[in-house]
Amino acid sequence: MTIAQKLSFDVQLSDHARTAAEREQVMANPVFGKVFTDHMISIDFTEGRGWHDARLMPYGPLALEPATAVFHYGQEIFEGLKAYRQSGGSVVTFRPYANAARFNRSAVRLAMPELPEETFVESLELLVQTEREWVPMPEGHSLYLRPFMIATQPGLGVNYPSKTYKYMVIASPAASYFAGGIKPVSVWLSTEYTRAAPGGTGEAKCGGNYAAAFVAQRQAVEQGCDQVVWLDAQEHRHVEEMGGMNLFFVFGDKLVTPALTGSLLAGITRDSILTLAGELGLEVEERLVSVDEWEAGCASGELTEVFACGTAAIVTPVGSVKGADRSWTIGDGSPGEVTMRVREELIGIQYGTRPDPHNWVHKI
Ligand code: PMP
Repeated sequence: MTIAQKLSFDVQLSDHARTAAEREQVMANPVFGKVFTDHMISIDFTEGRGWHDARLMPYGPLALEPATAVFHYGQEIFEGLKAYRQSGGSVVTFRPYANAARFNRSAVRLAMPELPEETFVESLELLVQTEREWVPMPEGHSLYLRPFMIATQPGLGVNYPSKTYKYMVIASPAASYFAGGIKPVSVWLSTEYTRAAPGGTGEAKCGGNYAAAFVAQRQAVEQGCDQVVWLDAQEHRHVEEMGGMNLFFVFGDKLVTPALTGSLLAGITRDSILTLAGELGLEVEERLVSVDEWEAGCASGELTEVFACGTAAIVTPVGSVKGADRSWTIGDGSPGEVTMRVREELIGIQYGTRPDPHNWVHKI
């Protein structure tokens, strides 16, 4: 545990920031994660000294030795959240302390230092305040924030973790995931590959989990599907999550979501939906859900809708499922009523058009 310390940020503004016209051009049609704003956050950590050299600086490349630990052993963690421009003009983030807490849980699992939650949130506030003009106006659009931490010690010794780290935040304007309307996704059940095993890093948000997933995502696309659904490591029998989203199964007015067994990510959207469900007149249950139950539920009509949820796409309907030896459709394959109700509620809170009884919205 790192002792909480109040850091003050050195602010170094870019002398080649994009003009308003250049910015508008990018923001007219932002492609997710391709263009970054003019500034970034950087804070360094040294064992024995703690966190130091907190700064806001011009966005630009890093100089790291080829022997730097992160390039070899993948000691890296990250987070993802968004800044939204609400209808009244305020700029807000959604539950940033939940991201801060998850970041620290990932840090502990990867033997990295924890960052005080206040510093994490302050770093987001400073970057978003500086880049306020980069937060897009239309509902559904946002400024995506990517905090991350890397091991920076040069050296190939594999028996001990790095003694130095760098925490950074970069930001990228994002258009609505659903510019062309809400389209249910098709999913591929991955039985050949496994994302996470008990005792592994499944519940940490570390780069290695994603590196190991690309091959299965490629297989999903080859099978004509949009996304992978990961199953448990031992039997490939129970549903865990998708590549970047958690799953909910709708049985009439009951929402069922896979329990947090340690091998799936505890999504903040997932947690928000579990909390909001009661207010929407829905029951919730966290438990194991098998692929057999999924298929049988769709066949009998008891399982009426399935949706995926996460920061990027909020709530996305799942329309069809394909596995090595079976495939089926959910309902009539179009977005369901419960899915849309949950989605509208969350978007309403984020964009300030609905009340926020849990104080999730954090004004910048
Ligand atoms: N699972 C995985 C593997 C993810 O990468 C994400 C995105 N962070 C999620 C679930 C959804 O999490 P959240 O709702 O916090 O975005």
